[in-house]
Amino acid sequence: MSPILPTTTVGSLPKPSWLAQPETLWSPWRLEGPELIEGKQDALRIAVKEQSDRGIDIVSDGEQTRQHFVTTFIEHLDGVDFEQRETVRIRNRYDASVPTVVGAVSREKPVFVDDATFLRQQTDKPIKWALPGPMTMIDTLYDRHYSSREALAWEFAAILNQEARDLEAAGVDIIQFDEPAFNVYFAELKDWGVAALERAVEGLRAETAVHICYGYGIKANTDWKASLGSEWRHYEESFPLLQQSGIDIISLESHNSRVPIDLVGLLRGKKVMLGAIDVASEKVETPEEVADTLRSALEFVDADKLLPSTNCGMAPLSRDVALAKLSALSAGTRLVREELVTSHA
Ligand SMILES: [Zn+2]
Repeated sequence: MSPILPTTTVGSLPKPSWLAQPETLWSPWRLEGPELIEGKQDALRIAVKEQSDRGIDIVSDGEQTRQHFVTTFIEHLDGVDFEQRETVRIRNRYDASVPTVVGAVSREKPVFVDDATFLRQQTDKPIKWALPGPMTMIDTLYDRHYSSREALAWEFAAILNQEARDLEAAGVDIIQFDEPAFNVYFAELKDWGVAALERAVEGLRAETAVHICYGYGIKANTDWKASLGSEWRHYEESFPLLQQSGIDIISLESHNSRVPIDLVGLLRGKKVMLGAIDVASEKVETPEEVADTLRSALEFVDADKLLPSTNCGMAPLSRDVALAKLSALSAGTRLVREELVTSHA
């Protein structure tokens, strides 16, 4: 059984430099063929060991087998042409060259199930697997076939549900959907965004999570954050809808952000995966800083529903810093656990 305040991460960790160029998004692999397969598995083993050794209770694959949290999933689907690339503006923030939807999208076979099975074999701890959410997927594509963001999102939701059921069968305990787009497209969020996400989790027995954030610590995101003013109230749009939804866990960014912590109160009854580690800074948090963030959240969420986590994925950080941040997360959580035990004694 997990301890109170089980620690976890949003998902990605830096890859070893022998596998892919460090501190780079969409970093090209440095191995190929059978060596690449072996290298990805070795990196995944290391990611699991580092998380376990550093006191992370709910373990992820560190996304060691994927180049990118959205595109690697899409690459395995039919109906998307990776040779036909178009430049689009991602979440209204930065331009990226993305593949084109040229026909009906479908999943011929499971995408991550072999990797998840391998992760399951590496640890007895609960495991969490991240998939992109439907709205974030359509925002990372150029669509020439459906001509409707909503229609394409429903197709992806059905595909994600197939994948999630297969991950559940492979022994994944928590299936997480990454929806940073929920902090940007509020009209769509209300029209069909949360509904599409609920379609993706339909019929699952595994716990489900949605991660909504202000993005990786890359320049386009930090520039955007600098323009958002003194209070970031974006979660006010999604949280009331998610509180009414069938999603079990809501993951948000907190430490070093300008998100008013009382917004956590909008999620009453849900589990809250709280970002107590800043992924946009190389500065490693002290245990006391982590503990302060958790304490402030505990005014708005019950202790048995709080999961200390990172603000977002740590893929773009240097490896040493990311690993030190895992240790800080555990150490800060331990401080608060001790206080909770003392106060209930
Ligand atoms: Zn994120």
